[in-house]
Amino acid sequence: MSDEILIIKDVRKYFSHSSGASVKSVDGISFSIKKGETLGLVGESGSGKSTLGRTIVGLYEQTEGEIFFEGRNVSTLSNKEKREVNRKMQVIFQDPHASLNPRMRVEDIIAEGMDAYGLASRKERSEKVAELLEKVGLHRDHARRFPHEFSGGQRQRIGIARALAVKPSFIVADEPISALDVSIQAQVVNLLEDLQKEEELTYLFIAHDLAMVKHISDRIGVMYLGKLMELAESETIFSKPLHPYTQALLSSVPVTHPNQKGKREKTMLKGDPPSPLHPPKGCPFSTRCPMATTECEETPPKWKEVTKDHWVACHLYAI
Ligand code: SF4
Repeated sequence: MSDEILIIKDVRKYFSHSSGASVKSVDGISFSIKKGETLGLVGESGSGKSTLGRTIVGLYEQTEGEIFFEGRNVSTLSNKEKREVNRKMQVIFQDPHASLNPRMRVEDIIAEGMDAYGLASRKERSEKVAELLEKVGLHRDHARRFPHEFSGGQRQRIGIARALAVKPSFIVADEPISALDVSIQAQVVNLLEDLQKEEELTYLFIAHDLAMVKHISDRIGVMYLGKLMELAESETIFSKPLHPYTQALLSSVPVTHPNQKGKREKTMLKGDPPSPLHPPKGCPFSTRCPMATTECEETPPKWKEVTKDHWVACHLYAI
């Protein structure tokens, strides 16, 4: 059996706008994720990264393309098989405040999925919730409390316990640390890394900047206006970024290693991304790219493997 838990092929998710136009939030994305791997996905707001995450786990139905989970095309599964895939694929949401029902006790929030899938008897339920709370660094007595009694970081831990309760194998972490204080972010990332080892989890870790995904990701994909611009090992993205957009994103990441200081030239991003309602005809990044040519404005670049496992969509690397 392949060691890839997830393969997506040319996945598209279009929404219809009130004007009648089609918004191409995700526009032809392909990649795979190996078991136990963390793929970081970054991009500015509106790049389509969260829409892609939600499409992968089935919260949105793709407009086109195929999603294979554990070797099987999800669209061809029976309802019973789909339900099992839905259990194995979980999401941790960005805003732990909005994603937890304020009127439910923590025990019921965490046990909701277990109840739905029949994973615990009435007798086992409380003990399983207590174990999950301890696993995410909270106290078993917290089960009786309500979400408003917790800090942002603690609420995110509850969100993580809720996802773990149904024994998933794949988790989309949709900006799980963006809403948290910087001092808390590293703690949550460390927790996710520990849980990955203990529970043999695979992650798609979505964030809006490269600094947030640097330490947890094995590989990183960079999205812009619904498309992937670059995909490579995390180390390669930081040491040899090829795409002008990745280079611009990196120039805003603080350099911490003394040997690297001064090495990164500042490439300022001009203006805002274009509206997804009116994307550029050629390369999506052409309106902001300092290297853009007439070809870039006219023709979309192809998605190419420039060196082994290093994929880029840019005319500069057309061979
Ligand atoms: Fe810039 Fe052209 Fe490459 Fe797009 S294809 S990133 S506009 S150089």
